[in-house]
Amino acid sequence: MNYSKIIHQIEHELQDFPNNGKVASYIPELSKVDPEMFGLHLYCIDGNHHSFGDSTERFSIQSISKVFSLTLAMQLLGDDLWKRMDVEPSGNAYNSLFQLERENGIPRNPFINSGALVISDILVSEYDNPKDEILKFVRKISGKHTINFNEKVAQSEKQHGHRNAALANLMKSFGNIKNDINAILDVYFYQCSLAMSCEELASAFMLFANEGKILETNEQVILPIKVQRINALMQTCGFYDEAGEFAFRVGLPGKSGVGGGIVTVHPEKYSAAVWSPKLNQKGNSLLGMETLERLTTKTGLSIF
Ligand code: GLU
Repeated sequence: MNYSKIIHQIEHELQDFPNNGKVASYIPELSKVDPEMFGLHLYCIDGNHHSFGDSTERFSIQSISKVFSLTLAMQLLGDDLWKRMDVEPSGNAYNSLFQLERENGIPRNPFINSGALVISDILVSEYDNPKDEILKFVRKISGKHTINFNEKVAQSEKQHGHRNAALANLMKSFGNIKNDINAILDVYFYQCSLAMSCEELASAFMLFANEGKILETNEQVILPIKVQRINALMQTCGFYDEAGEFAFRVGLPGKSGVGGGIVTVHPEKYSAAVWSPKLNQKGNSLLGMETLERLTTKTGLSIF
């Protein structure tokens, strides 16, 4: 298959696409991004890379980071992790409080904010320096050693993190948060601030397309059975309140973030990351979703 030709055709087709999405503005740092940025990176299991546009420009990966912290927590706790959260789509906003109250402080899944905060709590319990461990892990699996947190984004998240603090406090009242609230919020805000490009994201997520092995070194980082579970969660819970729509239109497991990034995997075939900051009403990149829909349509390669 001529992937390069296909992605450039998509880039061309989308030049005049009416993109009426809105850049995330809940923190000032995110609203400063150039709304016209647009890039794609496709990393195939045969080792070939294909890309277009702003694919090497770093951006705030936000909720995509939840996949990295989940992977670490699964390594640390194994199945005990699922005593503290569920694996069901939430059908509610990613930062919703009322479902959590009704369900006794047990988050629906690891990709809504409450679930990610429980994961931060686990990392704080298990590691001396959780932020360093997250960074080390992301650098290792992507092979890109200059990846870092964006200090300004992290501080901005902290200043506007009242709802996340509310989620953490509510869970603490139910006994599902063990550590100091500020310590776990700090880890969560820093992981959201990770700055990565499409190329770096596609490289990192190849792990989930390649049965838990780093493609370039063949190192087995995580067991295939765990990768299957992470992919299942990405498929059912990876796109805010739009996981059904994403499965319907694109047909790949993946994760999006409010920075406008979406990363997807096709097990044993490829990983693909796209970035366009303008979001649809559900918080997913509008052009990003359109791009990936065209990719799976033109290649005939969705998982369904
Ligand atoms: N940092 C955001 C928050 O916790 C997460 C944004 C996202 O879902 O990408 O509100």
